[in-house]
Parts: sequence; C-alpha cells; structure tokens
Amino acid sequence: PGHGTHPRVLFVSHTGTMSGAELVLRDAVRPWAGSTALLFEDGAFAGALRDLGLKVRLARSGAALTGLRRDASPLRALPMLGRLGGLALEVARAARACDVVYANSQKAFLLASLPARLVGRPLIWHLHDILDGAHFGRAQRLVQARLANLCAARVVVPSQAAADAFLRAGGRPSLVTVVPNGLDLDRDPRPAAALRAELGLPAGPLIGVFSRLAPWKGQDVVLEALAELPGVRCIVVGAPLFGEDAYAAHLRDRAAARGLSDRVLFLGQRGDVPALMQAVDAVVHPSVDPEPFGRTLVEAMLAGVPVIATDAGASAEILDGGAVGTLVPPRRPDRLAAALAELFDAPDAFVARTRRARERAIARYGAAEMQRALADLILRVAARA
Ligand code: UDP
Repeated sequence: PGHGTHPRVLFVSHTGTMSGAELVLRDAVRPWAGSTALLFEDGAFAGALRDLGLKVRLARSGAALTGLRRDASPLRALPMLGRLGGLALEVARAARACDVVYANSQKAFLLASLPARLVGRPLIWHLHDILDGAHFGRAQRLVQARLANLCAARVVVPSQAAADAFLRAGGRPSLVTVVPNGLDLDRDPRPAAALRAELGLPAGPLIGVFSRLAPWKGQDVVLEALAELPGVRCIVVGAPLFGEDAYAAHLRDRAAARGLSDRVLFLGQRGDVPALMQAVDAVVHPSVDPEPFGRTLVEAMLAGVPVIATDAGASAEILDGGAVGTLVPPRRPDRLAAALAELFDAPDAFVARTRRARERAIARYGAAEMQRALADLILRVAARA
C-alpha cells in the first residue's frame, strides 16, 4: 500500500454510543473523508461519521462483543471466541483494503490488533482509558500491554496520566505519543441569568455536574456535599450510557433520602452542555477513579466558569496543578463542600483564575491542534509501512 500523502485509514470502534472517546474521533476524522469506519454496533456515532463523509461499515458479527465485559476473566470469554473470530476476520478483510488501521477503543484494539498484523497493516491505538487497576483487571492490563507491544505501531493517549498508566501496565515507552483531546466551543455572549431563564433553570446558587452517569464519575459524592450546603442547587447532566441504570436509580434514591429532591435536578443526556455550563456558578468534576482526560473539564474552562475537580488522573495536568481550577481529593464530600462554600463566599476572588483557565484551554486544547497532531501521526505511520 501507500497512497502518497493521503493514506486510506480504517477507523475501528466497538461502540455506536457517543461518549468522550467518540466525540474525540468525530473531531479527529475531519481530514479523512473517504476513509472507512468499521463499527461493531450502530448508533449516533455511525450517523456522525457518515455526515463527515466517512464510509461506515457495521460489522456483521459485532454483537459478539456485547458479552465481553471489561472485568470478565479470559476464561469466561472463551465460549464466544468463535464469534469473536468472525469479527476478527471482518476486521482483517477491511484492513487489507486500507493502509493504516486506527483503533479508537480498548475493545476495538483487542479485536483489530492481531488481524492488522496478519494482513501487514500498521495499527494505531488511540487509548482513551487509564489502564490501571481501578478501571481494568490485572489479566486485561497485561494482555493489552503485551498486545500493544507486539502489534501497535503507535499508542496515542490524551494525557501524561494515561501514558504513565500504560507504562505501568507494561507498555513500551517508545510506542507512546501524548495528544491531548481538543475541542472548540463558542461562548454565548448572554449573561448567565439570561441563559438560566431560557433554559428554565432556577435563580440562586447553582452548580452543575456534566458526566455520563457511572459509579466512577462520582456524582454521588456531589449529593453528599450538597447536603452540607443549604440553599445550593445542582443540575446533574448526563445519562447512564453503558448500562449503569442501577447507579442512576441509586442517585435519585440518595437525593430523596438526603432530602435533596428539590435541590437536585436530573436533566438526563443533553445536547446543549456549553450553554448549561455557562448558566451555572461552578462546574464540579467529581470522578472517584483517575480520569484519562475529561473533556468536561476543558468545556468548563472554555465556558468561563469556575471548575472544581478531583485530583485523580489527568485533572491536575489540565488544571495546571490547581492554578486554574480547584483540586480536591476524590471521595471527600466534606472537602468538596468546603471548596464550594469558599467559591460562593467570595466569587470575585475566582474571576481572574477563570479567565486564565479559558486562555489555557484555548491555547492547549483546541480541536485543530489535535486534528493536526493525529493526522501527522497517521501520515508518519503510513509512510513507514
Ligand atoms: N456530554 C454531553 N451531554 C451530556 C453529558 C455529557 O454531550 O448530557 C458530553 C460532554 O460535554 C463531554 C463528553 O460528553 O464532551 C464526555 O467526555 P469526558 O471526556 O468528560 O468523559 P467520558 O464520558 O469520555 O468518560
């Protein structure tokens, strides 16, 4: 293969659901119209990629993956190996028609690594996860790091925290390139009060949490903190995207049990996160396990709203060690409540910091910069093949 300066890329994703990783790829594929995306399931992601001019193929054996859980032992996965084999064959066939394979998730990488090697196509793994014990079992970390060392031409991670975790899992240092997630958002010129009126949000102290509902995203910690902050309301934005319905129900129960039902507004999955962020007094990012990146953090910085995040994973890198946002320890509602109280007591003290946060986000986390870095990397990998 080798098509001069424009190689054909096969983008592979296991999911059709739009969480952060898929939003990242959506923005990254803009220069690659005419390339192919192989998805293991249908969904909003397929539509978004088609709109950008990609040829989207849905793997026929994609359903084989639904039973393959992150924490499943390799032995329990054995019975479905046959079906996974079918999926691997599909990946191999699609890879043969391309110059470079780009796996956008951990499951896509698992399925694409050996097929890509078999047909002699270089493989880029965009690892959007933290490969540590909080998120993955020991066997899985080992298998993934070994496979990467064996099959990947490059491993792209969004943060130093994600890079460190990959190395600790046994990944080879020379494989890793850090490309921070990039995104562009325009600020709505209207003041927060006008936005609140339009969005139907209450006046008075109001904070927001903007993550899919999942135990490790830590929304429950915010509820506990709210119980210590009379008069403060909170919008909880996001839905359980990957089957965490029990956790979603638990959050509502917890809010009711703590007498917070009238102060916590569950808004579900929204398409207007930037406007909602601009409408609140502070964005809280309460993850209890390390964040591989956290687009939400950058969105809050761009919105020009004070950010309070847990010091786990990439948050400290993004918030410049706490210089442009408040860092609190994870799973500490008392510390979160104290940080929020400080903010509500003296909001003016945070104006300059919030401005610097926005400047930092624009300077470091733009979509164009990410697109360029990833395109360079794809071209370099293709040229070496
Ligand atoms: N998001 C959204 N609607 C919601 C909740 C979240 O569009 O109701 C977006 C959010 O703005 C962000 C992304 O989903 O761009 C989540 O990315 P992040 O990296 O913060 O977390 P992930 O879900 O990938 O772990």
